[in-house]
Amino acid sequence: MSAPLATLPLAELAEGIRKRRLSPTALVESAAAALAAAESGPEPLNLFIAFDLERAFKRALEVEADLRDGKALSPLAGIPVAVGDNLCTTDFPTTCGSRVLHGYVSPYEATAVRRLREAGAVVLGKTNLDEFAMGSSTEHSAYGPTRNPWDRSRVAGGSSGGSAAAVAAGVVPLALGSDTGGAVRQPAAFCGVVGIRPTYGRVSRYGLVAFAPSLDQVGTLGRSVYEAAYLLQVVAGRDPLDSTSADVPVANVSVNLGEGVEGMTIGVPAEYMPDSLDPRVRALCRAALRRLEELGAEVREISLPHTAYAVPAYAVLAAAEASSSLARIDGVRFGAPVAGARSVEEVWEGTRALFGAETKRRILLGTHVLSAGRHDEIYGHAARVRGLVALDFRWAFDSGVDAVFTPTTPSPAFRLGEVVDPYAMLLSDAFTAGPALAGLPALSLPLGLADGLPVGGQLVGRPWGEPEIVRAGHALEQSLVSSPLAVPSAPAAAR
Ligand code: GLN
Repeated sequence: MSAPLATLPLAELAEGIRKRRLSPTALVESAAAALAAAESGPEPLNLFIAFDLERAFKRALEVEADLRDGKALSPLAGIPVAVGDNLCTTDFPTTCGSRVLHGYVSPYEATAVRRLREAGAVVLGKTNLDEFAMGSSTEHSAYGPTRNPWDRSRVAGGSSGGSAAAVAAGVVPLALGSDTGGAVRQPAAFCGVVGIRPTYGRVSRYGLVAFAPSLDQVGTLGRSVYEAAYLLQVVAGRDPLDSTSADVPVANVSVNLGEGVEGMTIGVPAEYMPDSLDPRVRALCRAALRRLEELGAEVREISLPHTAYAVPAYAVLAAAEASSSLARIDGVRFGAPVAGARSVEEVWEGTRALFGAETKRRILLGTHVLSAGRHDEIYGHAARVRGLVALDFRWAFDSGVDAVFTPTTPSPAFRLGEVVDPYAMLLSDAFTAGPALAGLPALSLPLGLADGLPVGGQLVGRPWGEPEIVRAGHALEQSLVSSPLAVPSAPAAAR
């Protein structure tokens, strides 16, 4: 089989479509073939919870008609995309990877999805994720785990594992996911693609099913920094339907893209390179920093002293908010009503029994930390720690740092079933939770392979600093394309 069309650069696809050398239906056909390959064999990737190729063909035909009529078309016109299953759509069910929302069809569409469709993108389907986006491996989905296209015995990361793996497998060039504590960047790193978490407020969350609303953001995934950034530009911007969406101008990503990192100061926090870091990840990060220096950046050691408290604070705050967000799923308005219930309590119990173990654990933990007598001691404490984590970053940026560079994850993708302890699972977000608590934009880009598995590097920006991290990420990525980093699998002594 020839390489899927989705692996071609977006600019090439868009130009092919515009010049009518390539048709949107051919793109859907190619996506269908890539999907069939992804889902074949004894270990299917399990990318989608719902997809509809027939509908995608129909939509592609409509775009073709628009093209013939010479209607103004955006570069996304006719491009197949995938959308995480916690973003509401009126044509596909929105299950959030949960049994409790099985078959639920939203009466309205998420703003991010609507903007994608208005740009002419063809939504292939809804990708798999950890139940209500709670997890780091997509193993907590009621619809089975998503496997990693690089090694099917390993996880794709999570919670947006289906979206990241769908891009990595060449089914779609672009996908949307959600990032609460790392759920776009961590799977992007595990699957060798680019993932961007925007500044809090950059993208409307209208129609994104709430997990922890003070943290949740819609994020974008693509094969290159430019493509993920372009998708972000399409979905970003103020939305009257989401009061937390900010009225901040969205820069055109192409404008400063080629400016490189010359003159930029890149901060490297010692706390993000702990002794426990996988040595291969450390070696690739060190090599990437040397490369940034060669490209003209100043690399400066910095300290973010509260880093170690980011995951514990995140665990408390995210659980607290989840317990409140999920209270609405009671079998009355949301969630399948249980047959034969004789009282409202039986409706509640029957419905909420359908939550998976991890979701129940978080609801219990969240209810506990918000309970009278515990609220100040635990929740209040975590909220104060969050402030300190944010201040760490603020000081770094105030001291003249333009972007902070860190590994995205402490290790490459782990095996399915390998991480069972819930806290150990959360530690996969050791480097992504801090920027999320601080509301900062951050992207993950592939640095190279360690023993055949992708390793990601993270660039964190100041609030609304997407253009800087995109520019730096693009410069590094372009340099890596022409000259990959030396792969540090040997010498054995260094491991
Ligand atoms: N892995 C983290 C968690 O389980 C983050 C997930 C997310 O960002 N949605 O909470």
